[in-house]
Amino acid sequence: MISRRDVLKGFAAGTAAFALSNLPGLSGSTAWASGHGGHGEAKVVSPQEAIARLKKGNQRYVSMNRLPDPGVGPEVRMPLTKGQWPYATIFSCSDSRVPSELIFDEGLGRLFIVRVAGNMLAPALLGSIEYASIHSTSRLIMVMGHESCGAVGAAVHVAEHPGTKETPGINDIINRLMPAVLKAKKETGLNGKELVEAAAKENVRMTVKQIADESEPLREMQNKGELKIVGGYYSLTTAKVDIWV
Ligand SMILES: [Zn+2]
Repeated sequence: MISRRDVLKGFAAGTAAFALSNLPGLSGSTAWASGHGGHGEAKVVSPQEAIARLKKGNQRYVSMNRLPDPGVGPEVRMPLTKGQWPYATIFSCSDSRVPSELIFDEGLGRLFIVRVAGNMLAPALLGSIEYASIHSTSRLIMVMGHESCGAVGAAVHVAEHPGTKETPGINDIINRLMPAVLKAKKETGLNGKELVEAAAKENVRMTVKQIADESEPLREMQNKGELKIVGGYYSLTTAKVDIWV
């Protein structure tokens, strides 16, 4: 049986396995250098380089000029059994229309993706985000909201129709989104669908700040310039992600 400790060790394998030559069967493997910049590479990608890669990948998706193979086959998958070296963390919504690997035209092992409806922060989600940067190689964290977010829409609905009944699980999401809804409402005076867009963007801004406020190690990495925490917004209409830097 696999213990919890083994799972955590596996999670951290990306950090432990930096010395490629120490990995059995991987020394000199061409798989590491294949594709657009290599898959599962052992070097840490800077926040600036990570942003540039995401922008390029999203441009390919927007123009439907996608890579023939972004790296999803066994030649990429097998080396990744030794560890993972993601270059960015995307904290996004569970919405079926917002799949990060497709939006950024990426393959296996490149993006550490944390998804929850409404991309609002809660302790286990912060823990997932922390793992990717503290125990693995992600040096960019992007909180990515999106157009027509149903979770933010639900929070706006509750704000506009107090007493709306939801399940405890959905209420937890709504409660965590409510500060952004109320702030957006106060600052813009908007209602309905327009308020949903304003609140989704406010939620991204607040969550970016909240991650740094609540995580001392991530804050320290950011203060040293080793890590960037940024916001972003995905347009369902144009497929473009605006990265706020
Ligand atoms: Zn959403």
